[in-house]
Amino acid sequence: MYDILIIGGGVIGCFIARELAKYQAKIILLEKNNDVCSETSNANSAIIHSGYDPLPNTLKARLNVLSNPLFDQVCKDLDVSFIRNGSLTIALNEEEVETLYELKERAKVNGVEVEILDKEEVLKREPNLSDKVLKALYAPTCAIINPFELTIGLMENAMDNGVELALNSKVVAIAYKDNYFTVTCENNKTYQTKTIINAAGVYADEVAALINDTSFKIKARKGSYFVLDHFDNNFVKHTLFRVPTSKGKGVVITPTTHYNYLIGPSSDFIDAKDDTSTEKEVLDAVKERANSIIEKIPYNQVIRTFSGLRAVSNTDDFIIDYSIVNKQFINVAGIQSPGLAASCGIANMVRDLVLKLHPYEMNPKFNPKRRKMIKLSRMSLEERNNLIKENPTFGRIVCRCEKVSEGEIIDCIRRNAGANSVKGVKKRVRPGFGKCQGTFCQPHVVKILARELNIKEHEVVYDNLGSYLIKYQTKLGEKSED
Ligand SMILES: Cc1cc2nc3c(=O)[nH]c(=O)nc-3n(C[C@H](O)[C@H](O)[C@H](O)COP(=O)(O)OP(=O)(O)OC[C@H]3O[C@@H](n4cnc5c(N)ncnc54)[C@H](O)[C@@H]3O)c2cc1C
Repeated sequence: MYDILIIGGGVIGCFIARELAKYQAKIILLEKNNDVCSETSNANSAIIHSGYDPLPNTLKARLNVLSNPLFDQVCKDLDVSFIRNGSLTIALNEEEVETLYELKERAKVNGVEVEILDKEEVLKREPNLSDKVLKALYAPTCAIINPFELTIGLMENAMDNGVELALNSKVVAIAYKDNYFTVTCENNKTYQTKTIINAAGVYADEVAALINDTSFKIKARKGSYFVLDHFDNNFVKHTLFRVPTSKGKGVVITPTTHYNYLIGPSSDFIDAKDDTSTEKEVLDAVKERANSIIEKIPYNQVIRTFSGLRAVSNTDDFIIDYSIVNKQFINVAGIQSPGLAASCGIANMVRDLVLKLHPYEMNPKFNPKRRKMIKLSRMSLEERNNLIKENPTFGRIVCRCEKVSEGEIIDCIRRNAGANSVKGVKKRVRPGFGKCQGTFCQPHVVKILARELNIKEHEVVYDNLGSYLIKYQTKLGEKSED
């Protein structure tokens, strides 16, 4: 019997798992995919917003503002890439300048430090910006984060502190009897638990409906992006927004923590909650809006496009509360932007709801720090040489674009919540994120995974179960058993 069962291994479920690991409770997290950080948390703008934008007195505003300053410590403890680069919200006409002043007022109510900069100052800070800029709202506390590292780091640290993880475990039925739930997964495994936390992203309404809670609906709103290679560390330093509209924060141009650049997202409601395709017409519209901020975007540096799905609830705010059907079931739903930026505060709020039900004792053995990731890219030559002398696998570069060694790949497979697929390795240590998009390194990554997981190369998957890259071994001249 578990005390707490969390459904969903996105940033929200993983943050809650890590927060609750601080208490003496038996906890498990169920994720339907073959890895954590496989849905919305792996496809977003990766911005820790300052919090001036959400409407005052909403959960979005309160939890964003509360969370923003907490990220420095969390990222230090979990060894997650995080840069406070500040944001500039750009006004290109008089109407938008007026909106900037409204946003400044809103920032004051939300308790966020901002400043309006004139044209000269804005262009001094971002020389590649369009000359048409009139003014900009500067928010110094805005930051960028690596959302893969954060989500995976949270789960790894939760597991280091005793939380269990069950992957490939799609919850399909929930029954309640004698004060506990029986949760059934598509793979026929069942789990008994006193409390459930529903952090199922765009599917949170469907999971709530399993206990007949139909009090909210979630629609998916797609956002598509271009990713540019890291061609110039100074192309854009701040996160650049256009003045927001009713559809969201509009198009953003932002560096990532690895100095790629993201341009997007679009904003369109869709019916299929698993449709993360990209379309030329939508991306053309993104280009048009982005070009109004920077006229000379080098689109020849685009190495990929992708889409993510916002979980938009009918309340248009986060839903974080006991279910109206059963108090032992807590909904954490409608976590659209700024969900990533508010994730610390969301986890704290859920912790308080859980502790009100069951005042668990603190876990005296809780260790907030995860073992540091081994990253050759941030070591001096001397440090690298010493490491290679100790372990020659760090001397074999597998990914030339992102300069990732075999040793780093092995390390990310052997950790708690470790990689078990090609995409899992990519999310953790980056082979495949570069210009060649895995063309050169993928066969080597497959070999390393097969060796480490003690399976055959044709059994290695790209991402989810069944996503094989190799059909069978041709060199043997015969088909393998499967
Ligand atoms: C285009 C876009 C841009 C964004 N930009 C930002 C930004 O810059 N800053 C910011 O703060 N926020 C941003 N967001 C929002 C942010 O990404 C989300 O708020 C956050 O990732 C939500 O995390 P989650 O854990 O709720 O959802 P998810 O990451 O989707 O996780 C939910 C998990 O539940 C699992 N699941 C679902 N159903 C079941 C089931 N039946 N059984 C088991 N598991 C199940 C899913 O597989 C999934 O892994 C953006 C979102 C989008 C789409």
